[in-house]
Amino acid sequence: MILYQADYILPITSPPIRGGAVVVDQGRIVGRGEAGEQKAGFPAAQVVQIGSVSPGATTVLLPGLVNAHTHLDLCTARGKIARCSGSQGLTFVDWIEEVVRHKARVGEEEKMAAIRQGLRELLGSGVTTIGDISPDGFSIKLLAEAGLRATVFLEVVGFASTNAGAVTEKLERYLADLGSLATGLIKLGVSPHAPYSVSPALWKRVSQISRERRCPIASHVAEDLEEMIFLSAGAGRWPDFLRRRGVWDESWSSPGLSPVQYLDSLGVLAPSLAAVHLNYLSSQDIELLARRRVSAVTCPRSNRWFGRRADKLQALLCAGITTALGADSLASNWSLDMWAEMRQLHQDYPGVAAEDIIRMATISGAKTLGQDSETGSLEEGKSADLIGVAVPRQSANDIYGSLLASPPEIVLILIAGNSPNPNNSGLITRSRWSLS
Ligand SMILES: [Zn+2]
Repeated sequence: MILYQADYILPITSPPIRGGAVVVDQGRIVGRGEAGEQKAGFPAAQVVQIGSVSPGATTVLLPGLVNAHTHLDLCTARGKIARCSGSQGLTFVDWIEEVVRHKARVGEEEKMAAIRQGLRELLGSGVTTIGDISPDGFSIKLLAEAGLRATVFLEVVGFASTNAGAVTEKLERYLADLGSLATGLIKLGVSPHAPYSVSPALWKRVSQISRERRCPIASHVAEDLEEMIFLSAGAGRWPDFLRRRGVWDESWSSPGLSPVQYLDSLGVLAPSLAAVHLNYLSSQDIELLARRRVSAVTCPRSNRWFGRRADKLQALLCAGITTALGADSLASNWSLDMWAEMRQLHQDYPGVAAEDIIRMATISGAKTLGQDSETGSLEEGKSADLIGVAVPRQSANDIYGSLLASPPEIVLILIAGNSPNPNNSGLITRSRWSLS
């Protein structure tokens, strides 16, 4: 039994505790509160004072961060795909074509090496849980090797409705085959790629699988203007793209709806759905998402990559929609650093409190991944997924704000009470904690 003591504890689901401690036994949080009380309650616990290499720093214990949306398979794309920036760069449809070409060029060894590097980067920034979109579950073994908690969403694409049966069968085979690998820290989910790339029939079947298996479902929704033009008027660049790829469905006609209203017309908006991006929304869309209790994932630096000024976040939060944070893939981001995502969001939305942003990167992320019974907050009974960070002392009056002011020093990372595999994480060693 170990009692981790720090200047502040941020349980997230309750107020900060100054001079607090978290007690961990057999991978679970068994106590949390003021340090003196915890020491009295658990006299046999070994006490670990969270230290910092910077003198005079303030130390903070909080839940491990949740990156609710990424594509580890695309770690190979780091620095290889041009940015989309309005008239100068690629458009979103050009970008998708680039990504498809890139994927076809990459071999398995290269992919494994890039994913391992991506996992080191995630752990290095204090991420303990991710939501990964994967067409075939390739990342699962590497996630298990690195000791991360994850929900791996098996992704399907298929615009031609005649293929819905075959694609569903393949998905069910993957779910059956990967079931034995996805145990313990790793859960499986399903992911219809997007409203413009998945037929209504396939959307309905994947949604039904999610209901039957009680597994979460994630999809890219209302990400780009082209999607709006396609669904509302059947126009724009998607019809050409789908024809070029040989998957156009002659029987398809535009529903004349927004992406959110279209998914509702298919009956697939549900509490298990994490709608990723949600950049283009009307007030009716937001009302509908709230009514169906869909959760949201926003990707601030991915939006920056595409030159988008997404402005719906505050409306989503005001509507009470659980909203999480994702780094998206390295085909549309510079790194997988969650602190950089939080700082970008803070800069884009000065009106959103730092506390709310940290909530998005912890408990809200855990909820969207169906992992909140285990992680996302420091509560008794939950898994000991926690991080210790150090921030400059002068900024410690606003403890949430100080975490977002500059990159904090990560001094401790635990997943289910264990340090992630040191061969993979390259992280903090015990010598940086002072034992007493
Ligand atoms: Zn994505």
